[in-house]
Amino acid sequence: AHVETLRAGDDPGDARRAVIALHDLTQIRKLEQMRADFVANASHEIRTPLATLIGFIETLRGPAKDDPEAAEHFLSIMDDQARRMSRLVNDLLSLSRIEMNEHMPPAQAVDLVDVVDDVISGLEFKARARGIEIEVGAEPGLPSALGDADELAQVAQNLIDNAIKYGRNDSRITVRLFRTTQAPRPVGLAAVMDAVAFSVTDQGDGIPREHLPRLTERFYRVDSARSRQVGSTGLGLAIVKHIINRHRGHLAIDSKPGEGSSFTIFLPVAGSADGARPVRSSAA
Ligand code: ADP
Repeated sequence: AHVETLRAGDDPGDARRAVIALHDLTQIRKLEQMRADFVANASHEIRTPLATLIGFIETLRGPAKDDPEAAEHFLSIMDDQARRMSRLVNDLLSLSRIEMNEHMPPAQAVDLVDVVDDVISGLEFKARARGIEIEVGAEPGLPSALGDADELAQVAQNLIDNAIKYGRNDSRITVRLFRTTQAPRPVGLAAVMDAVAFSVTDQGDGIPREHLPRLTERFYRVDSARSRQVGSTGLGLAIVKHIINRHRGHLAIDSKPGEGSSFTIFLPVAGSADGARPVRSSAA
């Protein structure tokens, strides 16, 4: 609509403005398309378990009415599906909350070692059930990261949970916490960043290279049958990416098919010049 109102007059700037307006319009259309795709995908993801639930309710009322064993089996499937929907809605809500705050970087000093330890305690049972061992190594004297403890716990949770879900039985997950000044940054920004880094490396099947650039898109899955089987929502890495963006950090993904994958996040150090913002303690 912007473009039609522009007339090319004598001012040579007009043509340039028209080109910029056209560019903006393309950008707006693209965003509108992404939003429409997102709503369609989210609806589809919710409709699938809902259809299963409705189907089984009918079965329980009819054919399985007098068969307690079959009824128990159907109820356990219904339980799985209802939980799946609940995870999906929780993830959608997290994502929209993070997006809403993306322009405001969090400014607590967060002890990542504590955060990661808590998350691992919560996931150890699930890992052990598949014979997976989680090994943690933290650099002594690691400085605090500038961020939000709850959001960073969610990042650690999603990355370690994926390493368990997509790791091999009886394998090892390696978690590392270290400081680095060599953190990669998007082109155009400083090449060096004083960062606290956190990496999760698994010994899973790995991810073919062509999928890597799209991995953090909402609902993107490499192998949808496998993902569904492990109870995935397809939103875990999208949430990680948005949290890291809000932290002005960086996410690096490295994977070798057949060997495993490594996800590393880089966060600003609390109190360093690079953080450039006043820092409060987050102990509370
Ligand atoms: P999901 O809920 O499906 O796990 P994610 O956004 O966390 O959603 O991950 C997106 C996809 O990336 C997954 O479906 C899976 O195909 C792939 N993936 C994520 N982490 C790993 C990993 N550690 N090893 C192999 N594939 C992975």
